[in-house]
Amino acid sequence: MAWQEIIGQERVKNILQRAIAERRIAHAYCFWGAEGIGKDALALEFAKTLNCDNLQEREGRTEACGECKSCLQASHLQHPNIQFIFSLPAGKSTSSEEKGTSPLLRLTDDQIQLIQEQLRRKSENPYHNITIPNAAQIRIASIREVKKQIAMSSPQGGRRFVIISEADAMNQEAANAFLKTLEEPNAEVTIILTSSRKEQILSTILSRCQQIRCDALFDEDIARALHERESVPMEEARLIARLADGSYSKACELMGEDLRQLRVDIVNLLRIILTPRFVLKFTHELSNISGNSRAASGDKDRSKLERMLILLLVWIRDAYTLSVSDYEGSVINIDQVEDLKKFVAKFGTSGNLDAVALAIERTIHHVRRNVSVSLALTTLALDIRRILRQE
Ligand SMILES: [Zn+2]
Repeated sequence: MAWQEIIGQERVKNILQRAIAERRIAHAYCFWGAEGIGKDALALEFAKTLNCDNLQEREGRTEACGECKSCLQASHLQHPNIQFIFSLPAGKSTSSEEKGTSPLLRLTDDQIQLIQEQLRRKSENPYHNITIPNAAQIRIASIREVKKQIAMSSPQGGRRFVIISEADAMNQEAANAFLKTLEEPNAEVTIILTSSRKEQILSTILSRCQQIRCDALFDEDIARALHERESVPMEEARLIARLADGSYSKACELMGEDLRQLRVDIVNLLRIILTPRFVLKFTHELSNISGNSRAASGDKDRSKLERMLILLLVWIRDAYTLSVSDYEGSVINIDQVEDLKKFVAKFGTSGNLDAVALAIERTIHHVRRNVSVSLALTTLALDIRRILRQE
């Protein structure tokens, strides 16, 4: 990783670069913003740069060399100066919260192996979301470990960092203990909190941090990164980027999904919506795609539905594009351009298509806000019929 490999975030990079150039490093930062946009990546690169033994100037930026011992340790998340904290499972014994017990000592071998595997993936791709079963909280044992490390003297030159990933996951006990740590800053240590739910962090903690907002990524940047790093064909990369909501982590997760099939499904759905006597078939088809309606209230099915709706929205916007111009360059579903053209010829005045797009956006909003999924979709189907068939 180097600064230029961090996707987007130019404004934040500039703030951190200025801090490096002026050697004015705060005691504590909070990098906040949506999930998967590179907050951990920024924190890790910042820490790596301030520990590199052979700093370099490149295109006006101070870069870690990437090759010295310190850089290699940092890249493998094994740097003695850089502590990376995240949610861990509770562990087995009831005496687990005893003082001085390392949080890792309480875990089973399998759990530790899983954690090491997750860390390896994080070191290869700082956009990787660490996922460990039953690890919803950052517990006091982890914060005690932080305190212990801070109290010790630096094992090697450079600046020490404690990065607390998704710091909002600190439970109350951990947060209170952490607040005390923040209140007694150590001049040699910088603490970086990252969070996609800043509002869940104690305000007394936040007020002691320099807060730096990180922005959602542009679709174009996500698509290019998918193409260059994961060899995703550009066409597909653009489609995934549309679905990823500005989050590169989400885009990486979507790579594994069969979007092609999902797109075929939604075009079928649209066809059914527009046939006479559609209601029975529509309900049947919906339950095929999204699981039964009871399951569809679960978060996982809800997000699958949301993805379908976004795909449908992209498809309708493509149709809109073709209804106002012959230019196919900005069509996302370029492999379906013939279907799109037929659709436009039959149904699409641009006004109609715009109205349908609005109706879909409204439905996505409802699905996100936990409105009954079947109600939202039935309403949408009726809207689409009314608009396109003028019923
Ligand atoms: Zn280096």
